[in-house]
Amino acid sequence: MLLRHTPKEITERSALMINPAKTCQPIGAMYAALGIHGCLPHSHGSQGCCAYHRSTLTRHYKEPVSAATSSFTEGSSVFGGQANMLQAIENIFAVYNPVIIAAHTTCLSETIGDDLKQIRKKAITEGKIPEGKYMISASTPSYVGSHVTGFSTMVKSMAGLAETTGKKNGKVNIIPGWVEPSDMEEIKRLTTMIGVKTIMFPDTSGVLNGPLSGEYKMFPDGGTTVAELISAGDSIGTLALGEWCSAAAAHELDTKNKVPCQVLDMPFGLKATDRFIDALRIIAGVSVPDELSLERGQLVDMISDMHQYLYHKKVALVGDPDQLIAMTEFLVSMDMCPIHIVTGTPGKEFERRILEITKDMPFAVNVRAKGDMFLLHQWIKNEPVDLIIGNTYCKYIARDEDIPLVRWGFPILDRQGHQYFPTVGYKGALRLLEKILGVIQDRKDRDDPESKFELVL
Ligand code: SF4
Repeated sequence: MLLRHTPKEITERSALMINPAKTCQPIGAMYAALGIHGCLPHSHGSQGCCAYHRSTLTRHYKEPVSAATSSFTEGSSVFGGQANMLQAIENIFAVYNPVIIAAHTTCLSETIGDDLKQIRKKAITEGKIPEGKYMISASTPSYVGSHVTGFSTMVKSMAGLAETTGKKNGKVNIIPGWVEPSDMEEIKRLTTMIGVKTIMFPDTSGVLNGPLSGEYKMFPDGGTTVAELISAGDSIGTLALGEWCSAAAAHELDTKNKVPCQVLDMPFGLKATDRFIDALRIIAGVSVPDELSLERGQLVDMISDMHQYLYHKKVALVGDPDQLIAMTEFLVSMDMCPIHIVTGTPGKEFERRILEITKDMPFAVNVRAKGDMFLLHQWIKNEPVDLIIGNTYCKYIARDEDIPLVRWGFPILDRQGHQYFPTVGYKGALRLLEKILGVIQDRKDRDDPESKFELVL
């Protein structure tokens, strides 16, 4: 009983978070930056922040994550970190030779007022950014927002590189949001299948799910190239997947480069994937290929075959807003009942969307943006669930309350596979469903009395 001190009685808290359902803004900025080919993320702050952010990403993706740091000491904390940053820019280009540096701030550098945009201008004026090299930046203090807002801010900075030449490139920008490298690969497979030419950014496939080749590459082969980011300003449209992760970048391209955008939910589950495929189909002006209809049909078949095991199963969810909105819709569409839903990321719109999706469910729903896992645990104590879906930190609640857990989201520190097996699209939904059914049926096998123990389920 590791969480045995969690009381059942809920008291309102306004100034205290216990077991947050989020992590630092810079982690999101760093993950997004790794989706640009030849990019070295840079943490403008102390070494400790940078080490923590890198190690969290490494533990989740099981790949080395390189990032530079301004390495603040007492002096830079008092007098400002501009000198460190300028020195870092020189050193990084001289020693590691990336195509681009994607710098983000931390709590400390934000608190003392460092302005990365101004420092970048100074670096350009002083000739510290070589010809043909780039630097972008994001303001990511962790005392506001979450890893999701950090991700979104860095992706918006990427959109800032886009240029308009007046000649359209015939491509569609896809902003996939914070999904796994495997999901980004799957999104590219789907767009290719439909015949849409795309520029996807960021793209961590081939970066954080690479093979063991015996050769270390400072900059792996994957990632969106800077040339593609620049060309994004000439695209015919943008599909942004996820309001929280991707809408800001899409709106930036819309206002700055006049590239019209559409913001969709992330394509997790049947309905959200349908909407994504429909949007691609309309853009491409084609019919949905038979191969894709087959994948959809297989998903619908498995849902209808297994519906009896899913019907009215109560679920607790924790994670990030874009993922949770799509997952909630997926569960409700299969007659499952997500009754406790928490995200650590702020945004009342999240609560409104969840309540809208669950409005016809037969049970009352607890939903909280900017909530924590302590509250989720209390809700579960008051109204138990059959299943928890969330990141690795849920394992403490799952163990204490003896509830099956499906690991999904970020971070997953104690299981493998998420980097390689997508959960977006129809095939991804099949995998999600297989995982959900697996734990529900395992539990049934464990708990059924001998008289009801069946060989065939
Ligand atoms: S909360 Fe702030 S100071 Fe702490 S690791 Fe995150 S960015 Fe650094």
